[in-house]
Amino acid sequence: MQLILILAGAGLFLFFVYSAVVSWREREPVAAKHFFITAILILIPFFLTAFIPFTGKVFVFSLLMAGWTAGILIFLLPNGKNHAYRQVKPEGKIDERDTMFSRNELMPDTENFEDYYKHHPEKKALDDRFRGNKGLLQKGTTQYNPFYFASADASFETIAALRNFVNGTVATEKIPVKPEEISRYIKNWSKKLGAVDCGITELQDYHIYSTGGRGERYGRKFEKRHRFALAFTVEMNHEMIQTAPAGTVVMESGQQYLESGRIALQVARFIRNLGYEARAHIDGNYEVVCPLVARDAGLGEIGRIGLLMTPKQGPRVRIAVVTTNLPLITDRPLHDFSFIDACVQCKKCAEVCPSNAISFNDREIINGSLHWQINQESCFTFWTIAGTDCGRCISVCPYSHPDNGLHNLVRFGMHNSGAFRKIALKMDDIYYGRKPIPKPPPKKLQTT
Ligand code: SF4
Ligand code: SF4
Repeated sequence: MQLILILAGAGLFLFFVYSAVVSWREREPVAAKHFFITAILILIPFFLTAFIPFTGKVFVFSLLMAGWTAGILIFLLPNGKNHAYRQVKPEGKIDERDTMFSRNELMPDTENFEDYYKHHPEKKALDDRFRGNKGLLQKGTTQYNPFYFASADASFETIAALRNFVNGTVATEKIPVKPEEISRYIKNWSKKLGAVDCGITELQDYHIYSTGGRGERYGRKFEKRHRFALAFTVEMNHEMIQTAPAGTVVMESGQQYLESGRIALQVARFIRNLGYEARAHIDGNYEVVCPLVARDAGLGEIGRIGLLMTPKQGPRVRIAVVTTNLPLITDRPLHDFSFIDACVQCKKCAEVCPSNAISFNDREIINGSLHWQINQESCFTFWTIAGTDCGRCISVCPYSHPDNGLHNLVRFGMHNSGAFRKIALKMDDIYYGRKPIPKPPPKKLQTT
């Protein structure tokens, strides 16, 4: 009995000490302190029972062992899984002109401006709110930092310079390919190029914007020209995202839009070199709705923030897409109820959102599709005050923790067991805080 108590207590103690060390290294001192206190508290009853003689020792031993076993079973036994999954596919297409980036580019006294608000008069007052603010990456915003904003601008300008390469000449000689082999090759190569994941889906009408809304593509009707779409995710650095809504967040966004875009451009060019049509969809030049393509390509689910929630990085990713006629093997969508269920319970992003843009309600049918929709006007208006793309919702999400042993163990439990999911979400609030304070920028990037 004594040996069992020592082993069980020591096992738990070591696990929580390990969690404390991981948290300390992740610059989470509060979580590290909480994990360390838990390690001590959990050790006490096991060791007291093991070493101090008292009446009723067998009863306390049974209680401790029952608790220990229950914990393991809650973690390991699958329950509350995909039987409850429900997805309603979108009926219509999204018009890119309705997105905030497109509306932000509308200049007063131009034809597009007059035309847009003639057809959407209800949006005029909402948009005048953000037009009265300083704007993204501008001096005078609350998060203004000349170094961070200039760095972010450098990334976005580099992407802009690459936009002309999304299309290109297709080689006249068509190299014969086997769908399995070429699908596997592209996935492995894109990961070598820096993607954390790559998935393939058959392109659907609802993946494609009905009409372009940016730059020279404004007002252009988009049609389905390719059969397949490849989606790539790249990771946004955890340390940078933890600073949200500081300037370092928009720096990281710009960098990862560029990284994902670069991978898409290389893969598209590669496919054209083989003699097949391919178009890259990169920041500022999308014809497709990336999160919907990525979800159908099996890379994640759409969560409460309206972003793709991925198994290893949560919403802490950026996405780019390549559409093509290259014959490919498609992936199965995850159809993972655990993400949806976690978002139904958690609501942490909605609580911290500085613009109250995130709904506290359950998913709703909006434009024929079952999902959460943020209030994009409120969100964007906050961006134009802060000067950054905020990212507070991404930074506090329990799925955004780094991709390492500790957090992947928790992610496995959350995916596997509804009961564990409930406990893990509560623990996340206790250990990391329900409204965690933004972290300072990484030491090497701090400015005076
Ligand atoms: S913070 Fe919570 S509710 Fe928001 S996306 Fe993440 S899991 Fe879902
Ligand atoms: S980016 Fe910021 S303002 Fe926008 S939804 Fe997320 S937390 Fe809210």
